[in-house]
Parts: sequence; structure tokens; C-alpha cells
Amino acid sequence: MPLYSAEALILRTYKLAEADRIVVFLTRDRGKKRGVARGARRSRSRFTGALEPLTRVNVSYFEKETRELVSLDYAEPLRSPLAATDPEALGYVGYFAELLDEAAQDADPNERLFRLGGAVLEALAAGSPVVPLARYFEFWLLRLLGVYPPWRVCVTCGASLAANGACLVKPHEGFACCHCSRRDRADLSPGALAYLRSLAELSPEGLAAVPMPPAAGREIAAVHRALISAHFEREPRANRVLRELGA
Ligand SMILES: [Zn+2]
Repeated sequence: MPLYSAEALILRTYKLAEADRIVVFLTRDRGKKRGVARGARRSRSRFTGALEPLTRVNVSYFEKETRELVSLDYAEPLRSPLAATDPEALGYVGYFAELLDEAAQDADPNERLFRLGGAVLEALAAGSPVVPLARYFEFWLLRLLGVYPPWRVCVTCGASLAANGACLVKPHEGFACCHCSRRDRADLSPGALAYLRSLAELSPEGLAAVPMPPAAGREIAAVHRALISAHFEREPRANRVLRELGA
């Protein structure tokens, strides 16, 4: 059975039998994998501290072509989301991991998705404010999935949206000006569109230096929620957790 070594992000785990765990992880080079970590639920296990969602690890695993599940040999943590000390940030960890899991296809390499998850993890660990980071993550995740609608010009008349705001007509159709969509109020105000430009142009570290106006943040969050629910055909499970945290 061939043995593979890779850098990976842990996406989620669940219990298997008495002492084991199934681990879903995103490798940098070979896409999403599912594997068995034998003995992972024992108090002294070689996987201790390595299997929290969003942990970046070095893994090695055995893979048999005919089997869906690989067998984890070891996982060594390189960066843990638990390095973030802000309780609000920790509340978002499950949300980021869940969306990565939803977006990643089995055994379909997607290095850009891996890099997005890694960048968000680094920013969390460095103490970047988590709410702007969540908007950044959603923006780029939807872009990588190819489902972020054009937001700079009206989908109907082609006018620039920057001055008067943008209305989300239907998630799959894109943004229109208020005139074309016959609405009094834009879903994204000019302030929200300006912040969206920062999300598109800056790195997570650069973003930490640009204050997010609270109203703009709320507008972008609502639009992203609509786009995510439309694409995945359901609301992320972690949204409920975030609501309970008051996010
Ligand atoms: Zn228009």
C-alpha cells in the first residue's frame, strides 16, 4: 500500500468504534481525503492535538486504490487555530472548516482553496479581527467556486454601482442598480462596495489595517449569507452556533 506525506488542513472528525476517529482533511496536493485515525480517542494517542478542525498538519497516510478511506499513519500539528485567544475567533473556527469541507471535492486537488484556508488560519493565529476575516474568507471562497456575481457594474444597464449602491437581484444573476431592480434601497451601500473592494484587493494582514464600518459589514454579511445558502442549497450548520455567540 503506498504511503503519502502531505501538508493538510483538518476539516472535521467523527467517532468511529470505541477508540478511533474518521478524519476529513484537505491536502495541499491531492484534494480532500477521508481517513481512519486508529486510537485517536485514547487519552494518549499519537494524534493528540492534531485533529482539531482547521489545524494545519503534516500527515502521512496509506492509500489503497480500491478503498475510499485512507489510513492515517501520523499527523503532526504545524499551526493550531487554538493559538487564537479571542473567544469570538474560536467560535468562527468551525464555520471556516465547515465551508472548506463543503467547497472541497473528494480527491480533486485545489491548491488555491488550501491556501485560502491556510491564510485565514495564519491571520486568526496572529490575532486579526475575526469578523472582517470572515467576510474576506466568504468573498474568496465564493470567488474560487466561481459563484461571486459581478458587483462593479449593473447586470442590466452596465452603469457603475459604486456611487449609488447595488441590489442583489437573484444570487445567480448578479447585482443591479436600484433603478433597474426597482428598489428604494440597495443591499450593498456605496460604503459596503468600497469595503468589498478592500476584500478583493488586500491580503488578510493588509485588511486588518482597514477599519470595517459596522453597517457595511452587516450588509456584506447578509449578501454573503444569501450567496452561500443559494450555492450550497442550505444554511451552514455553524451559522446557528455563530448566532448563539451573537455574531
Ligand atoms: Zn442598472
